[in-house]
Amino acid sequence: MLVESIVKWTLGFKSWRVKKVTGTKEGFTAELVPRRRSRARCSGCGKRRPGYDALEERQWRHVALWGIPVLLRYSPRRVTCPCCGVKVEQIPWTMGKSDLTVPLIVVLATFAKLLAWEEVARLFGVHWNTVKAAVARAVDYGLQNRDTSSVIAIGVDEISRRKGHTYVTNVYDLKEKRLLWTGDGRGEDVLERFFYEWGVERTKAILCICCDMWDPYIKSIRQWAPGATVVFDKFHIVQHLMRAVDQVRAEEVRSLKGENPELLKRTRYLWLKNPWNLTPKQKMRLGYLEKLNLRTNRAYLLKETFREFWDYKEKGWAKRFLKQWFWWATHSRLKPMRDFAWMLRRYEEGVLSYFKTRIDNGAVEGMNRKAKVISQRAYGYRTFETFSLALYHVLGDLPMPELTHKFL
Ligand SMILES: [Zn+2]
Repeated sequence: MLVESIVKWTLGFKSWRVKKVTGTKEGFTAELVPRRRSRARCSGCGKRRPGYDALEERQWRHVALWGIPVLLRYSPRRVTCPCCGVKVEQIPWTMGKSDLTVPLIVVLATFAKLLAWEEVARLFGVHWNTVKAAVARAVDYGLQNRDTSSVIAIGVDEISRRKGHTYVTNVYDLKEKRLLWTGDGRGEDVLERFFYEWGVERTKAILCICCDMWDPYIKSIRQWAPGATVVFDKFHIVQHLMRAVDQVRAEEVRSLKGENPELLKRTRYLWLKNPWNLTPKQKMRLGYLEKLNLRTNRAYLLKETFREFWDYKEKGWAKRFLKQWFWWATHSRLKPMRDFAWMLRRYEEGVLSYFKTRIDNGAVEGMNRKAKVISQRAYGYRTFETFSLALYHVLGDLPMPELTHKFL
C-alpha cells in the first residue's frame, strides 16, 4: 500500500489511482487505472469528453525509488471530442511520445545541466540516449514556454566547434543574458534562418543588433531586420586591432632573423596585454624595447592610443578622434595597421553606433566561453543537433515543467 501512495504522490494527479504495484529488487511496476466516473480530457482542447475506447497498454519509466527502477503501466483512453474528433486523452505524467515520465525528464535534465551527460547516465543507471532524450524534451518544453516579449537587443557571435573550421552562430539576448538561438555555420543563410524562425513580429521589436564586422551577418540583418541599428561589437574590434599588432610583430621577427633574432623573442604578450597588467620584469623589458625604433612599437603605440576612442561620451567627438587615428594609422607604413584602419572606415557607421546605444557583446562573453567549453566535451556532441541541445539547455535559461512533487 505504501508504495502505491508514494507513486501517487509523486505524480500528483487525482483522476487516476494506482491499482497495484508488483515488484522485485529489479524494479517496481505500478499499474494505473482511471478513477471510476472520471472522464478523460481531450489532448487537443483539454476539455473533458466522453470516452471512445482504450489503447494498448503503454509503459513509462519513472524516477527510481531508493535506486530501484520504477515503471508505470497504463492503457490510455481515447475520447470523442466534438471539436477535435477521436483523440487520445491528456495524460499529465507524459510529454509527447517520450517513455519517460515528466518528473524523470526534469530530474535527468537538471543533472545534465551540471554534469556531462555520460556521467548522469552512469549515476542513474540509464543509457546515454535516455539522458539526451530527457534534455531534448526539457529544451523543447523550455523553448515553447519561454517569454521572449522583452527581447530588444541581441548579440550575434560565432564559435568554432570541433577544433576544425566548423562554425556555429549564436544569438544572445543582451538584456537577459541568455542564448536565444543557435544555428549551424556562419554564412549568410544562418541569420536568415534565425529571422525566419523568430518571425516578423518579434523581429520588429529588435532595436539593436551587436555583431562582428562580418559581411554575411550584416547582409542578412540589412535584409531581414532593416529597422534595427547595427552596432559592431567593441570586443571584436579590439580583437582585430590586436591581431594587426601581432602581425606587425611577427613580420618584424622574420625581418630581424639575420641580425638580432633574440630581440623580439617571447614578447608577444608584452605588446598585447594591458600595460597595467604587466609584471615589473615585463614592464622593464617593454620599457627597453620602446626606446628602440621598432615597427612593433609603432603599432603598439597606435593600439594604446586607440583606447581613448571608447571613452568618448559623444558620437561627434568619437568620430573626430577616429578620423585623426585613421590618418596616423594609414601613414604608419605598417600594412596590418593600415588594413585595420580601412576596415574601420568601411564599417564606420556601425562602429560609431556604439556611442548611441552603448551595447557590446561583453555581457555574453562569458556565455560564449562556456559554449566553447561545452563544445570541447568530446563525447556525444559530435553532431550539431546534440551540441545545440546542450547549448540551449545550459545557456538558454529555459523554464522547466512544474512538478507537484519536488524530487530535488
Ligand atoms: Zn478536443
